[in-house]
Amino acid sequence: MREINEIIVHCTATPPNFMADATPAQRVDEVRRWHVEDNGWSDIGYHYLIDRGGQLLNGRPISKAGAHVKGHNSDTIGISLFGGKGGTKDQAFEDNFTPEQGETLRKLIGRLQSEYGLDLKISGHQEYANKACPCFDVRRWLNNRPVRTSAVQSTTLQASATAAVSGATGVATAVSALNGTAQIVIIAAACVGALALIWIMQERIKKWAAGDR
Ligand SMILES: [Zn+2]
Repeated sequence: MREINEIIVHCTATPPNFMADATPAQRVDEVRRWHVEDNGWSDIGYHYLIDRGGQLLNGRPISKAGAHVKGHNSDTIGISLFGGKGGTKDQAFEDNFTPEQGETLRKLIGRLQSEYGLDLKISGHQEYANKACPCFDVRRWLNNRPVRTSAVQSTTLQASATAAVSGATGVATAVSALNGTAQIVIIAAACVGALALIWIMQERIKKWAAGDR
C-alpha cells in the first residue's frame, strides 16, 4: 500500500451543463477517455470525481498513484469537481460549484482524514502549477474563511461603516456643541434680561423715593 500524505483538489474545467443528458458515470467515462486516449495515460488521472449533483464517483484506485499533479502523484489522492470552466484562481467555491458538491467534498475529506490521519495536507492544484484549477482556495474554503474578493468587499464595508460612525459622531459632537452654545446664549440672554429688570426696578425705586410718583 502506498503512503498517502496529501489530498489535492482539482476541477474538470467543464461548463455547468457539460454532457447534461448523460449520467454521472458517463461523464466520468468521458474524462477517462481524455486521459487515456488523448493523454496516453493508463487510466483516469483522478482517484475521485464529484458530479454537479454531489454524487461521489470513483476514478483510479487509491492503491495506485494518480496522474493529476506533476511531481506530486506518488503520495497524494486526486479529487476532481465537475465544473470550473473559465474560472479564476481567486474565486469563491460557489462561483463554479454547487452546494451539493461542497457537501460531498467536505465529507470525503473528513473520511480520508479519519483514514489517513488529521495531518493529511489539503491542497489545490493551483499551488503546484500556474493554473486556476480548482478555481478556489481549498484550505480557506475548508476553514470557512472568505476568499480574497469577499475580504476586500468586507473591508470596504467596514471602512464605510467606520466612516458612517465617525460621521454620526461628528454630527453628534457638532449638535452637542451647538446645544452648548445655544445654552450659553440663552443663559447670557437671561442674565442680561435679569440685570436690565433689576436696573429698571432700581431706577423706579430711586424715582419713587425722590417723590416722582
Ligand atoms: Zn487540476
